[in-house]
Amino acid sequence: MQKISNYINGELVPPVSNEYLDNYDPAIGKVYSLIPDSDMRDVKHAVESARMAFEIWSQVPAQRRSDILMKIADLIDRDHEVLAVAESIDNGKPVKLAGKVDIPRASANLRFYATAILHFASEAHHTDQAAINYTLRKPVGVTCCISPWNLPLYLFTWKIAPALAAGNTVVAKPSELTPYTAFLLSKLCVEAGLPPGVLNIVHGAGDKVGQPIVEHPDVPIISFTGGTTTGKRIASIAGPMFKKTSLELGGKNPNIIFSDCDFDQAVSTSIHSSFSNQGEICLCGSRIFVEEDLYEKFVEAFVGQVKALTVGDPLEDGTRVGALVSAAHRDKVLSYIQLAQEEGGTLLTGGEEQLSGRCENGYFIRPAVITGLASNCRTNQEEIFGPVVTIMPFTREDEVIEYANSTAYGLSATLWTENLTRAHRMADRLKSGIIWINCWLLRDLRTPFGGMKQSGVGREGGWEALRFFTEPKNVCIKL
Ligand code: NAD
Repeated sequence: MQKISNYINGELVPPVSNEYLDNYDPAIGKVYSLIPDSDMRDVKHAVESARMAFEIWSQVPAQRRSDILMKIADLIDRDHEVLAVAESIDNGKPVKLAGKVDIPRASANLRFYATAILHFASEAHHTDQAAINYTLRKPVGVTCCISPWNLPLYLFTWKIAPALAAGNTVVAKPSELTPYTAFLLSKLCVEAGLPPGVLNIVHGAGDKVGQPIVEHPDVPIISFTGGTTTGKRIASIAGPMFKKTSLELGGKNPNIIFSDCDFDQAVSTSIHSSFSNQGEICLCGSRIFVEEDLYEKFVEAFVGQVKALTVGDPLEDGTRVGALVSAAHRDKVLSYIQLAQEEGGTLLTGGEEQLSGRCENGYFIRPAVITGLASNCRTNQEEIFGPVVTIMPFTREDEVIEYANSTAYGLSATLWTENLTRAHRMADRLKSGIIWINCWLLRDLRTPFGGMKQSGVGREGGWEALRFFTEPKNVCIKL
């Protein structure tokens, strides 16, 4: 069986323990590869390599760093098919989606920051006649990048690209549920000639690998994407150590539909924003609010289209909904479908799905649509992170703003209306880091990305990430 290796100091190496964890293919429910069960010893080695490499990499001209990152991006594009299939097998997502979204976005992340760093400038301030100030922006040091399983290579590269472009070195930990494409990336880094120690990838469990990286005194900066509970834990360790921290956490995003919307567009995009990637995207709109006079018509059209979605083998081209990432996650999502009914909701469609043939033991759920729930019940307040949405009617703008803002989260919100004034007014009042009007997940990598409240701290994307991954230093010269 294929054994995944750690990538430390430029070499593909086994874990010190020589122990491995099982890696499942969620579409068939079987172990297909082995993940290093790394621990503190591997982390120490990786941090030491990154610390040594920082002395050199932070001095390498930006153009040279850019060239190497561009080369890695080219290699990702060259291996597009292999990476898309690997992502699909590891995560359960349809291979078509991986090929269209995950893998192209991974190379785009690298290209974006490889070029952004060439244009990144700092400020200067002329203080009347008395002095001139300028800002130096220096790389911070050994950076910890921890990523989740839902968009594995996409989010992994979204972190390492700006960190490396800015001149930091990295110790990264991909999710233990989806380590495979990060492993393939480490081979591409070797091929691209990335100097040893600049990027180190340590595989394994969160508490045995992620936490020791966070706790390491030689790691001054942490970029984390994952669940809010893990984010709290990381913040509680990093806070007293005064580490620079960026946290991209969970969401419970509202999707608000006014009766003056472009109806067909609102329905078809809402199918997409509810169930893409099996609903396992932090930006999915899991609470749909529909203006009362459109409610019946919307529910009928929406449920009709949901029933037509093909749940199936992720490796087949026609599949729209693949497998959930693990048996444990499938069970968690099913328990929320159960809870929704206990809370008085009506399940209009969806639930556990048993496939036959190759995928008979896979972790599948048919997209679920639930109505009849109040906005403040647990189903509508807690992140489910699966193919489950609720639909609720509303009558007034103030009312829906209150519902939308009522959760502990504040990542994204989607709004459907042809009334421009209302769109601006709502965008101003919704407590979310990202607002999409008449669209969803239309991304421009230059924009600030992140959430309010328990959806996170800080912003990624564009200059925000390069500012985060550099330390500003003010120099003041008296004239
Ligand atoms: P998770 O928090 O369980 O794990 C994320 C990563 O943290 C994994 O690599 C894991 O091994 C590691 N980890 C676990 N415990 C740790 C610890 N004590 N110290 C350090 N690292 C530790 O999250 P998940 O289940 O992999 O991902 C799903 C969550 O991620 C959802 O809540 C989703 O909303 C969120 N997410 C947020 C964004 C965003 O941009 N805001 C994007 C994608 C996913």
